[in-house]
Amino acid sequence: MSRADRAAGLAAERELDALLVSHPVNLRYLTGFTGTNGLAVLGAGADGVRRFLTDFRYLERAAEEVSGFDVVRGERDLLDAVRAALPERRPVRLGFDDAHISVRAHRRLQEVLEGVELAPAGGLVERLRTVKDAGELRRIRAAADLADEALEALLDRGLHGRTERAVALDLEDEMRHRGAEAGAEPSFPSIVAAGANGALPHAQSRPVEIPRDTLVIVDWGARLDGYCSDCTRTFATGELDGEAAAVYELVRRAQVTGLEAVGPGVTGRDADAAARALIEEAGHGERFGHGLGHGVGLEVHEAPRLAKTGGDDPLVAGNVVTVEPGVYLPGRFGVRIEDLVVVTEAGADVISSSRKDLVTEV
Ligand code: ZN
Ligand code: ZN
Repeated sequence: MSRADRAAGLAAERELDALLVSHPVNLRYLTGFTGTNGLAVLGAGADGVRRFLTDFRYLERAAEEVSGFDVVRGERDLLDAVRAALPERRPVRLGFDDAHISVRAHRRLQEVLEGVELAPAGGLVERLRTVKDAGELRRIRAAADLADEALEALLDRGLHGRTERAVALDLEDEMRHRGAEAGAEPSFPSIVAAGANGALPHAQSRPVEIPRDTLVIVDWGARLDGYCSDCTRTFATGELDGEAAAVYELVRRAQVTGLEAVGPGVTGRDADAAARALIEEAGHGERFGHGLGHGVGLEVHEAPRLAKTGGDDPLVAGNVVTVEPGVYLPGRFGVRIEDLVVVTEAGADVISSSRKDLVTEV
């Protein structure tokens, strides 16, 4: 069954007559369209309408990329054309993406769709996106392989004595040279954060030289053919004091425990708890302030979440998630180790291939 048909099936389950898809990532997922101005109307059920709206700039691209939809030409403000694209039946209960539509666009929709009931339907397409098909898994693996190769090349040149920013740019360069999405961004801006900067969970790479004998967090990912990868390693630029070495080992063990916990039928909450228990036992529970992981696909952060809250749905085969415990000692250093993992029928398959024992010669 096509992705559009499955989304239309979910719309029928929610007693919607049609679904309006506006978020570009969801649009790409359902229709294949990679442009920036498009909308899709999916009539509920397998025999509902499939209409794709775009403006004149993207008609050719839509003809190439979009299949299974009637392509309808609108003006730049596509909302004006939505009424004409709705199923002919009246009245219509139209699901819209409340998680991504602006207040202004919602008001505009209410104006142009007078008499149509607008029903919040955020998360519907996102739910489908959590289970990757073979083609998606191939793309995510390719992105992860590319990112791992780029890291190898980077490490050959070492980390200490260069600025965090220089290293981050070098890593992104290596990814682009290897074919990471032409003209597009990497998965997210690479993070290279040494010493105390690594203790900030959302650290940015600074124009500051990386010293010897410190820990350096490198969190990076490539985007290939629309799909993201995400990985983190923490390196030592020489000798570490006893506590830093112990925290590294703790996070490494928690990460392996998290990986072992991931599998079909396990909730994100339970996977998180398994890894978190080790860190809590070691007295660092307060220093692990984020969830264990998140889904990765067309977006670098998507469902499902592996976290204390919001992780009630059991994982299923085809989910792609990260496992990334971290311990952050403010003013001193941080350690995070992150792998990208495919949930399989049998358990889980780690995609990331960079080594995880402590590397001290970078
Ligand atoms: Zn990451
Ligand atoms: Zn991540």
